[in-house]
Amino acid sequence: KAKGAGRASYVYFDDSMTAQVQNDAELIHDLARAAELSQLKLVYQPQIDLGSGRLVGVEALLRWEHPKLGLIPPLRFIPLAESRGLMGEIGLWVLTESCRQWARWHERGLDVGRVAINVSATQFRGGRGLEQMTEIIDSGIAQPAALEIEFTESAFVDAGQETLAWIAALRERGVHFAIDDFGTGYSSLIMLRQIQADKLKVDREFVKDMLTDPNDAAIVHATVSLAKTLGMVVVAEGIEEAEQADYLRVIGCDVGQGYHFARPMDAEEILARYASGPSS
Ligand code: C2E
Ligand code: MG
Ligand code: MG
Ligand code: MG
Repeated sequence: KAKGAGRASYVYFDDSMTAQVQNDAELIHDLARAAELSQLKLVYQPQIDLGSGRLVGVEALLRWEHPKLGLIPPLRFIPLAESRGLMGEIGLWVLTESCRQWARWHERGLDVGRVAINVSATQFRGGRGLEQMTEIIDSGIAQPAALEIEFTESAFVDAGQETLAWIAALRERGVHFAIDDFGTGYSSLIMLRQIQADKLKVDREFVKDMLTDPNDAAIVHATVSLAKTLGMVVVAEGIEEAEQADYLRVIGCDVGQGYHFARPMDAEEILARYASGPSS
């Protein structure tokens, strides 16, 4: 932070700048207690069926509301949490909180489909995170039919046999798995075959310029048809324009997610927007 500037100067930074300026050690220190102080929260981004326009799922996205620094984005603090071994605990909180929220929506008459949660590389490695997930399902807090686990190719590359075994066991019980940010990690077709994921999410990086860049369009096309051939549902991330949604629907992409449809929002906003009949 700026030397000698004093606390009040924080208000002159925007959130993202402040979080960058703040040094890692301080953030790590605060992060260790963020969960118990209820500073972590989840926002939910709708996933929309491109054919019918209906809500078919939500992705839970982590936020840290720091009392001094404001909202800190996940890409700023998750790597720190991972490096300090805090991600396991945070990940379990994400899992239980999103499943409880799913149940609250249901009690109030809203079927959101599945709630997708992101699982980091360290949660995946050695299968420990997935084992804990299994325990939480056993305890009745998390319902397999409510759950979808998103993981990246990079997380999977590190994963061993145990991880594969836990994935298979969880799938057997009805949990879905989605490969996130597809095409940006260490893609391998062997991996695709091994995992047998239910869903594949095309990264925003390719969707962004797809309508003007023929190379991006080709990558999106190839990815959609590969995934469909393997029997997976395809989700496109980062859809910001109606034209992108139309194009994706025409080439056979099933589901869309992005600011064009909705930004990530509070659980209450999800309810307000989708509980009363057809989506709008
Ligand atoms: P992700 O899983 O690929 O999530 C999608 C990100 O794209 C989210 O950023 C979302 O807000 C953003 N996004 C959605 N639609 C649009 C759009 O139309 N345009 C643009 N420009 N962006 C869009 P967010 O929430 O900042 O999360 C960033 C990443 O942090 C996530 O990427 C995920 O990898 C990670 N993350 C978030 N929550 C968790 C969590 O609970 N656990 C773990 N392990 N990772 C998480
Ligand atoms: Mg994700
Ligand atoms: Mg993603
Ligand atoms: Mg992404």
